[in-house]
Amino acid sequence: MYKQRLFAPGPTPVPEETLLELARPMFHHRTGQYRKMLEQLTRDMQHIIQTEQEVYTMTGSGSAAMEAAVANLVGRGETMIAVRGGKFGERWSELGRAFGANVVDLDVDWSTAVTAEQIDEALKAHPDTVAVFIQHCETSTATACDVEAIAKVVAGTKACLVVDGITGVGALPYRMDAWGVDVTVVGSQKALMLPAGLAFIACSKKAWAKIEATASPTYYVNLKAYRKSQAKWDNPYTPANTMVRAALVSTAMIRAEGLETVWAETRRRAEAMRAAARALDLELFSKSPSDSVTAIRTPQGIDGEAVPKVMAEEFGVRIAGGQSQLKGKIVRFSHMGYTDAFDVLAAVGALEMALARLGATVEFGAGVAAAQKVLAQAQA
Ligand SMILES: *Cc1c(COP(=O)(O)O)cnc(C)c1O
Repeated sequence: MYKQRLFAPGPTPVPEETLLELARPMFHHRTGQYRKMLEQLTRDMQHIIQTEQEVYTMTGSGSAAMEAAVANLVGRGETMIAVRGGKFGERWSELGRAFGANVVDLDVDWSTAVTAEQIDEALKAHPDTVAVFIQHCETSTATACDVEAIAKVVAGTKACLVVDGITGVGALPYRMDAWGVDVTVVGSQKALMLPAGLAFIACSKKAWAKIEATASPTYYVNLKAYRKSQAKWDNPYTPANTMVRAALVSTAMIRAEGLETVWAETRRRAEAMRAAARALDLELFSKSPSDSVTAIRTPQGIDGEAVPKVMAEEFGVRIAGGQSQLKGKIVRFSHMGYTDAFDVLAAVGALEMALARLGATVEFGAGVAAAQKVLAQAQA
């Protein structure tokens, strides 16, 4: 028998303390007890997103906050730029079309990060753009872009910069206000050590001015409704109040650890994973690898879809494969959230065993040793 270990880039493991909190009795949400919880969670999320703007908590997966961003900011027929470097970039584009926006797709090769220069060119070619939509980390390709540089370019225009921080915030260094990002969206089940079910969104003053001027065809994700309720520490509709209570346990753990320490340790685990891949002669997929998730090309001659299957079914280690055009070509490992150095060693060990099982020539322990060297340095 093997323990079940979760290394897919969402959902990620949840600490025992948080799970126990989820098991506690139901309570009522239109109460002072809940209002205090929502206020505290908002403060914690402001810290994690590094913003002084209000952070609104929605019930839904991360896509609910993505939909809120598009539907509140971009009016019918208005121009938006969607960077498409993977599955989640495609989601921005599809959301824009669903709400009748004039979507300009900025396609980038799936292994590369969009650059500030590319955004600058696109904005010059489409000066009527009201918003630019990017992923901090494009989870489907494990690629991270330079949000700070992109924000500088967008700040000089009338457009707002919207960042999908769902596998960025809480894992990669991120400073919404200092960088000048206009909208940040986050989901609970990636770096925040929580199950799926909460989505968060924060908007700058520039974004709010645009939202106020836009007639939005939304109801459940109407940000004006969230702003009005939050003035009284309420949600417009029934909140997932037990999730909010549990979220406070995980955000308190992040605060106790220190946000910068969380970022540094996430990076260390990613460096260990990359060192392991090199030692096993495996190629990284991304040319700008994210520290929150690593994508590794499956070796020639090995059935790529079989690698995650063998790891999950035979060794209890759940990683993710590739999506769409990357199906069978890559495997992805999360380093986010409630994961430690020894989890990385377990994941690398299982990868070596799965590759050997599938007929690859593997020097057992080569990847594990390379990862250990990186992780041991951190202890010194
Ligand atoms: C997981 C994820 C999402 C949200 O997906 P949901 O299934 O709605 O939670 C959005 N963007 C990125 C980059 C993600 O990793």
